[in-house]
Amino acid sequence: MLNLDVPIVPRLHPASTLSVPETGEQYLVVQATRDQECNYFRISKHTYRLLELMNGTRDLTEIASEYNRRYSGTLDAPQVLQILEKSRLKDWGIVDIDGSAQPVNHPKASYLWMRIKIFPADWVNRAAGLITWAFQPLFFWITLLLTNFTLLGIILLEDLNLQGIRSYFIENSVLALYAWYTATVLFHELGHAAATRRFGARPGAIGFGFYLLSPVFYADVSDAWRLDRGKRIIVNFAGMYMQWVICAGMMLIYLIVNDAFWFYGALFTFVVSLYNFNPFLKYDGYWVLSDALNVPNLRERSNLVLKGIVRALWNGRIPAISWKETLLLLYALCSWGMMLLFLGFIVLINPSEIVRFPAKLFAFFTEIISAGHLPAIALLKAFMIDAIQPISFYLILILSIKKRFYHGK
Ligand SMILES: [Zn+2]
Repeated sequence: MLNLDVPIVPRLHPASTLSVPETGEQYLVVQATRDQECNYFRISKHTYRLLELMNGTRDLTEIASEYNRRYSGTLDAPQVLQILEKSRLKDWGIVDIDGSAQPVNHPKASYLWMRIKIFPADWVNRAAGLITWAFQPLFFWITLLLTNFTLLGIILLEDLNLQGIRSYFIENSVLALYAWYTATVLFHELGHAAATRRFGARPGAIGFGFYLLSPVFYADVSDAWRLDRGKRIIVNFAGMYMQWVICAGMMLIYLIVNDAFWFYGALFTFVVSLYNFNPFLKYDGYWVLSDALNVPNLRERSNLVLKGIVRALWNGRIPAISWKETLLLLYALCSWGMMLLFLGFIVLINPSEIVRFPAKLFAFFTEIISAGHLPAIALLKAFMIDAIQPISFYLILILSIKKRFYHGK
């Protein structure tokens, strides 16, 4: 406990700056970390105002009285201290109360496993600068026309064998397909960076990680938090849009040379881009919806609403909910429904595999240990492919159970 008899002069740690977008709809603390990256914290208007008053010479009492004078508040020094400590600004090393504050390196985007940087921020920034022209309105409309309308028009009007697409590519070259997929996805990430840059924020690195067992690329566009919601929505759509730009290019070539390869390529690129719409996993659609509803931490917040309503119903009351809570409730229900459907789907396809998997895994490892060497690559590969579904099943199960207990504490 700090002694309040000695004047305490809290200050904003030099690594942190305050930021507020033009629209003034949210308040941010931006904290530079040791690894040249930034952490972004949303704070309330009141906290922002308090931090603004900390000029390094005012003590707690002076901050409180200045706050009361400017905003006709009723704060006193212990309350100011309590706000600073309760908001964990001290723990994060944003507010320095006793001269010991250090910026913390928060694990960023913790839903990604094994994040590694591939392209550093400088490179990304330069490359993004080369494609900002793609965000010109005219170019946008041409892209939209060529991808969505022309593509759908050809699918509807011409007698193309859509079932044949998969086999067309698999027969021709799976490797080329993967290479193409990787290239479009990297371009997708560059799209997020380019939109960020176009609006005047600084794009970060592009890297690689795992999300729910799938390998994914990511673009660090956390500086877009400085932008207003509308611009952030465009930044989050920009990745998908870049894939449409590629798609439009292929459609154009198809329309000129009339070779099915280009059409299939365009369609493949388009279909791949649509995965990002899924708002129930943390893909781009999730962040768009979160900004559109103006609900940060959409998943957590919607689960809280669901929990509150279930609890109220359990206690025999019918809770009054706002339209926003209704939307959050809907989101939570759909989200859980999708998860259950997914789990149910895995169980239904191959129930015996799920049940027998732990025993199989045990047998697999005891065999390796008793043999004293690793199994042949082909055998290992076959085992891994068989294991993907059971592992996803158990992982999701374990994670949801863990989460429940963690929240229960
Ligand atoms: Zn994206």
